[in-house]
Order: sequence, then C-alpha cells, then structure tokens
Amino acid sequence: VKNVTINSNNASQQNEDPEETENIPLADKALLQKVIRTGLVSTKNDIEVQRKDPNSPLYSVKSFEALHLKPNILKGVYAMGYNAPSKIQETALPTLLADPPQNMIAQSQSGTGKTAAFVIAMLSRVEPSEKFPQVLCLSPTLELALQIGQVVKKIGQFCTDIDIRYAVRGEEVSRGTKLTEQVIIGTPGKVFDWATKLRCLDLSKMKVFVLDEADIMIDTQGLQDQSIRIHKLLPKTCQMMLFSATYEKDVMQFAECIIPNPYIIKLKREEESVESIKQYYVDCPSQESKYRAIAMIYSSVSVGQAIIFCHTRKTASWLAEKLTRDGHSVGLLTGELEVDQRIAVLERFRKEKEKVLITTNVVARGIDIEQVTLVVNYDLPVDMEGNADCETYLHRIGRTGRFGKSGLAINMVDGPRALNVLKQIENHFGRKISKLDTDNLEEVE
Ligand code: ADP
Repeated sequence: VKNVTINSNNASQQNEDPEETENIPLADKALLQKVIRTGLVSTKNDIEVQRKDPNSPLYSVKSFEALHLKPNILKGVYAMGYNAPSKIQETALPTLLADPPQNMIAQSQSGTGKTAAFVIAMLSRVEPSEKFPQVLCLSPTLELALQIGQVVKKIGQFCTDIDIRYAVRGEEVSRGTKLTEQVIIGTPGKVFDWATKLRCLDLSKMKVFVLDEADIMIDTQGLQDQSIRIHKLLPKTCQMMLFSATYEKDVMQFAECIIPNPYIIKLKREEESVESIKQYYVDCPSQESKYRAIAMIYSSVSVGQAIIFCHTRKTASWLAEKLTRDGHSVGLLTGELEVDQRIAVLERFRKEKEKVLITTNVVARGIDIEQVTLVVNYDLPVDMEGNADCETYLHRIGRTGRFGKSGLAINMVDGPRALNVLKQIENHFGRKISKLDTDNLEEVE
C-alpha cells in the first residue's frame, strides 16, 4: 500500500465544563485507547455467536495459515508480529473471508483485534489490478480513520498494487476527477459529500462496507443519518460488516437496520474486580498533609508506575505543578489538552519517561497500562449528589492488578465527608480498606 498525504489540521474542540470535571468525547477516548495500546487485550471469555443463516457452516480457525490468505497479506500479518488469530478473529475471519460473502455484526471491547480482522478482510476482497474504489470503511472521526489507515498500510505493505485514500476533513479532490484507489477510509460526512455532490467517489462497485465504532457513530449527531444514506448508495451485493465496542440496545437496532442477515458475534468484556487489589486509605486532615502523603507515596513507588486521580482539572494541574516544582517528574493528562497532546502524554507515560501520571476521569475506563501497579485517589470518585461513585472507583483501580499482578490502591481521605464516601465504597464491594500510616509506607510493599 502506497503512502498518501494528508493535511490534518488539528482542530479538536473542547467543551468548557462548568463543573471542571471531565467530559471528553467518546471518539477521543477511543482514539486514546487505540494509540496507547501495545498489544491484544487478553480475555478468558468465550465468543457468543448468533446466526441468522443456518445453511452456512460456521467454523473457527486457530492459525492464520488455515485462512488461506493471499501470500502478500499473510506476509503482512506476520510483519505485524501476529502469530495466531485473536479470539474474535478466530471466529470472525473465516466468516468474513467466506464465499459467498457473509454480513457480520461483531462486538467486543477495544483492543481485542477487531480492526486487524476487518483490515485483513478488506484487503482480501480487493482486486489489485482494478483501479476503482472496492472497499469502504467508515469511522466517526478523522483521527480514528487515520488509525485504521495505518493498520491497512502495515498489513498491506506487501500489496504494492493496492492504494488507499482518506475521505476526511482536509482532503480535497478537484471537480471531475474519479478516485482510482481501491480502499477508501473516511468519515460519513466527507464520504457522502464525495459520493453525491462531487461525484468523485463511485460507490456502485463496492464489495465491502465496514462501519467501525458503531456505538460512537450513533452517539454523535448526524453520523448515523449520514451512514444510513451512504449505505443506501451501495450495491446489494456489497458485504456489510459492523463493529462496536459496546452492545447497547440502540447500537443493535441501528446495526440490524443496516446489516441484512448478519452473523452476530459477541465477546464479553473481562469483569473488573477489586479482589486482587490491596486497598488502603490515608487520613489527611489538611491539604498540606494530603500533599505530604502524595510526596511520600511518590518517593516510595519503586516498582511500576502510578496514576493519581483528581476530581477537577484545577486540582490535577495544581498538584502536577507543585510536584514538579518540588523536583518530581510527573505527567499531566486532562480533558483540556488537544488530542495530540493527550496522546503524547500517554506515550511518555507508557515509555516510563514519567513514573506518575496525574489525571481526572479522562482515563477512568479502558486504558490499560500494564506497568501501573499503584492507583491513588487524590479525590474519591463521587456522583452529582456527592455519594460514592463505585463504578468509577472500580474502573480506576481495576486497571492495576491485571495480568496476574497484585495491584495497590491508596485513597486520600481529607475529612468526614470523604470518610463517609470511603465507607460506602467498602460496603459496596464488601472489602475492607485499611488505614495506612504514611510514615510507615514500607508495609504496603
Ligand atoms: P480493536 O480494533 O478491537 O480495538 P485492534 O485490532 O486494534 O483491536 O488490536 C489491538 C492490538 O492488538 C493492536 O496493537 C493490534 O496490532 C494487536 N493485535 C491484533 N490482532 C492481533 C493478533 N492476532 N496477535 C497479536 N496482536 C494482535
């Protein structure tokens, strides 16, 4: 796959949140998860399959060879370092590659190999000698579309006759031209524009239609309608695939309305639990003692890395500044950063340039950084009424203690209100949270 140029002007909007708590768009979260992911999310759960067409055989494969991929694609798969198909790929790929083509709706959490699966399917359906658009992949945002394009380029690196074209903000085509690239990756608005107004994109010969991040599509005003309109321009013979990280009812309604007779496969997410996590709290009667406790903890994090959660951006920035002024090196991740800046912060943290990441709820769910062994709740998570937000608590601390390691969570309790929240959390999970003496931190390690 040849390179294409792309003018991305990073205009990501940030909504000012009066509460100063974080509320970042789902698409931005999905992007963060993607870029900081280094490998597959492991799962012990089994695939659940619902079939609409009982006549076609369903099978799964344990190796990429068994899929009889074109040699150049198989080479690309190996160049990615993939040895065997992931759980979702084992079941999805034989169906996606089958003839006659089957439609599919697949749901599994981020990081389980969905993108790689549909990229392999897309490349497999392209006839490289034919120079017109053959496969179309829709994604909610420019940034997510670029991520997919990168995977297409990597897996398709030996398919030198396959070209890709982005149909996203910033890309222009002059009137009268017809796109010749076989792979089109774009956002719904631009694709619709190119197909109907500019008429440079011919959808009538599409063989594969991929709708990625369907849950985000329907969450974002306009994208769902545009996707449906695009879908109507595709030939009846086009193979349809839809992917989603979540499986809400509205996603399924949307999915079934545009994907006729699909195979539906689901992979449940691994349950998060507090079981293997040691939970403590530190009594901090004053802001000063709260800061002192953090500084103590910082100097005692000898293995792994820590994430510190604050309730507001303001606290997070203040804490990061103060720790930095005191000579510590910390990363700061809040919702006011541009997408690129967030990625840069997370990349630095993942590469262990900083031991500590200070953040708000931006990364409360889904972002696994394996080295994180300590989570500190500088502020305990609460809902609008000030009651314990146990779900967020679980998402925050659930990221440690993964992969068989034992994790550690430390909660700062700065008064009777926080102590009450702590008690609610204890009761909810039925696990005691022991008091920790910061002068004696060795006991936790
Ligand atoms: P999703 O689309 O579900 O978020 P991806 O396809 O992006 O998942 O895969 C997540 C990560 O796992 C990526 O880093 C990807 O390169 C890697 N990956 C995907 N499939 C395999 C595989 N079969 N073996 C090893 N790593 C894989």
